[in-house]
Amino acid sequence: MVRRLSLRSPRPQRARRLKQARPPPSPPPPPTAAPMDSPSQPPPPAEGGSSADGEAVELPRLTVTQVEQMKVEAKVAEIYRVLFSNAPNANSLMLELWREQHTEYLTRGLKHLGPSFHVLDANRPWLCYWMIHALALLDEIPDEDVENDIVDFLSRCQDKDGGYGGGPGQLPHLATTYAAVNALVTIGSERALSSINRENLYKFMLQMKDTSGAFRMHDGGEIDVRACYTAISVASLVNILDCELAKGVGNFIRRCQTYEGGIAGEPYAEAHGGYTFCGLAAMILLHEADKLDLPSLIEWVAFRQGVECGFQGRTNKLVDGCYSFWQAAPLVLTQKLMTIVDEQLKSSYSSKRLPGDDAGASSSTEAVQYAKFGFEFIMKSNQMGPLFHSIALQQYILLCAQVLDGGLRDKPGKNRDHYHSCYCLSGLSVSQYSAMVDSDACPLPQHVLGPYSNLLEPIHPLYNVVLDKYHTAYEFFSSQ
Ligand SMILES: [Zn+2]
Repeated sequence: MVRRLSLRSPRPQRARRLKQARPPPSPPPPPTAAPMDSPSQPPPPAEGGSSADGEAVELPRLTVTQVEQMKVEAKVAEIYRVLFSNAPNANSLMLELWREQHTEYLTRGLKHLGPSFHVLDANRPWLCYWMIHALALLDEIPDEDVENDIVDFLSRCQDKDGGYGGGPGQLPHLATTYAAVNALVTIGSERALSSINRENLYKFMLQMKDTSGAFRMHDGGEIDVRACYTAISVASLVNILDCELAKGVGNFIRRCQTYEGGIAGEPYAEAHGGYTFCGLAAMILLHEADKLDLPSLIEWVAFRQGVECGFQGRTNKLVDGCYSFWQAAPLVLTQKLMTIVDEQLKSSYSSKRLPGDDAGASSSTEAVQYAKFGFEFIMKSNQMGPLFHSIALQQYILLCAQVLDGGLRDKPGKNRDHYHSCYCLSGLSVSQYSAMVDSDACPLPQHVLGPYSNLLEPIHPLYNVVLDKYHTAYEFFSSQ
């Protein structure tokens, strides 16, 4: 909240204060300097001022977020200044994806993590997924021994009654179940795929289902859109999704769409990029996307792309590299939903539809082939071009999120980590492929920023697994 105290003429003074608070433009560093780590001093927040007639006034105070935003903008602007002052051939170097460094960082992480990682002890399947998926995006396959070690380790995380815990002997949890299954699908071997106990997994999911239809994360845990998505995504991927699991989920997710258009974790909470992806992807897998107000969802997400060219996760929050996936992916998904969007726009959907006015597919008791929804969706062509500035997003990821020694990060000034490496690369992939019309064509060079060798593997955006790996798993589980 901006607090205004005795402010007589807020607009001119605020404009002046912001102007004073920004540092003067500094000359760009030489092109040989590493653009990712250029230091930049934050502008100090102003404390007061005086009006034109000399009368003392108190100016609005900046919030912590506003000050942080200005720091980020200054750092990003400095990086972009270097880019735009370079010769075109130097630009190409700056815009290169540092594949070798990222591969080395990720491969090293799969073999050894330092003692500081003990805080992630309940997230060990996530670490496997983040690294193995990021490597798959780079078209890199770990050694067979490493893959077998991961399969063995995840088998030890699998609970005897179904689902996967954060580590061996830990309580099964839907988030780590999603991570474990996605990691195994990404490995893709028969050994990996057959290690998933689908019967027990189905029983675990039924236990996590609340009477409202929504899912809870774990026994006694929170009920939210993340739980719904992870359950539906996993169930769809391993072909155990049925009407029993699907019933009521769509109505819960619809109740989480906020007045802003994005989706919150639970009803009456704040719209958030992560939950917006989870909610929309789950609705598509349930074949109930038409229950959401898609035009307002698109509008909310599209306006989350900021002046830095990356996405923020919520309104008035800072840009963050991981939202390159969480926010860009919903927009990529809606490129295939334009028929519904058009119908909703024609019928003034949001004003006419009332919550709970139809129960949709989830109330049906007849056999529905849910696994087909994910398969058929990815085969559909895009019905229009990207609904965000995909080249600008690629620019943010390549210039501001890459770390010279390998790995990707949230924003300049932050450290790299495996989570951001996974989701920055996932976001880069969906951006590169977002301008394609045919689902099986290759992106044109003008749609891939930097050298064409930057092109990553395509993903199935509903599950965030590499597309080839998805098809292998789809075939495998279709015959089960
Ligand atoms: Zn992040």
